[in-house]
Amino acid sequence: MFFNLTKLTLTTAPVTLNEGLEILERDQHRCRYCGLDGNASFENALAMSVDFVKPRARKGKKDPNNLVACCRTCNAIKGKKVYDSFEAAKKHVLEQRAELRKTWEENNKQRPGKP
Ligand SMILES: [Zn+2]
Repeated sequence: MFFNLTKLTLTTAPVTLNEGLEILERDQHRCRYCGLDGNASFENALAMSVDFVKPRARKGKKDPNNLVACCRTCNAIKGKKVYDSFEAAKKHVLEQRAELRKTWEENNKQRPGKP
């Protein structure tokens, strides 16, 4: 089943199914940015993707050293910006996620019927 899921999620990706699977397996199906576990649920599995640490649009290579397992949310947050290193990209992604969480928590507090 996972095979089909991956195929589904990678059809538009610039890596082949096998290349993508190798990266996901190497990273144990966990997002290297936020740690989301792609094996934990169907929804998580659908969210998993492979990220070019240095974006392809910026001449990032399709090399295992430049590829990481990544959830689509982190991938979207990271965008096409070039970072000095994977660690710098991760720091940015996690900071943005923290900001989004803060906003979400603020908005959620204000909903009627919530304590
Ligand atoms: Zn993530």
